[in-house]
Amino acid sequence: MKDTYTHKGMRNRLVATLKDKGIADSRVLEAFNEVPRHLFMDSGFIDHAYVDKAFPIGANQTISQPYTVARQTELLKVSAGDTVLEIGTGSGYQCAILLAMGVQVYSIERQNELFKKAQRFLPRLGYRPKKLVFGDGYKGLPDDAPFDGIIVTAGAPHVPKDLLAQLKIGARLVIPVGEGVQIMTVFTRTDATSFEKEEFGEYRFVPMLEDKN
Ligand code: SAH
Repeated sequence: MKDTYTHKGMRNRLVATLKDKGIADSRVLEAFNEVPRHLFMDSGFIDHAYVDKAFPIGANQTISQPYTVARQTELLKVSAGDTVLEIGTGSGYQCAILLAMGVQVYSIERQNELFKKAQRFLPRLGYRPKKLVFGDGYKGLPDDAPFDGIIVTAGAPHVPKDLLAQLKIGARLVIPVGEGVQIMTVFTRTDATSFEKEEFGEYRFVPMLEDKN
């Protein structure tokens, strides 16, 4: 597990690309400069780590495109010390980006293999989430709610009510909504019963799966 000057140089160029594509939040860009994305990918694919593309991580899942991770993180509008719930731990990369920003991260993954891998791997790089949970993200984490932000990193066919209910007043849920193609949607909780909705363009995610039983 090496992070070399070559990798750091590649990250600098990726950050320049993200800036060109409109990512403006310097805290997000700093986190991208810091987190060694290549270590989150299988060694055979390391050459692809710093191009702005999604990539397979095993178990039929992908590590999201850097631009998408950056955009979702920017839309969350969180600061150091805030608590964030992530749905879809996957490789753990998005989780590491938030941790690098000083955020306290809770993350849920429904695939046991990916959950276990992230649980072993993140601390090895020095990233310590508050909680990694193996389970169903549709339900959120009622015992740890409310959160300063919630980020869903899989395409949701509908907006889970439980997640809206777990936002603090003023907090945001960033969620790609739709089947096949998703619209990046932000819900801001304005008071106990009201939410403001904004839309931010089209994305393609692997589906947020619902266990119907
Ligand atoms: N944030 C991840 C992206 C992973 S892709 C990263 O940075 O690598 C989306 C992930 O969401 C997949 O790992 C998938 O297994 C998971 N997922 C899908 N439906 C889910 C659900 N209902 N609850 C929790 N995780 C879910």
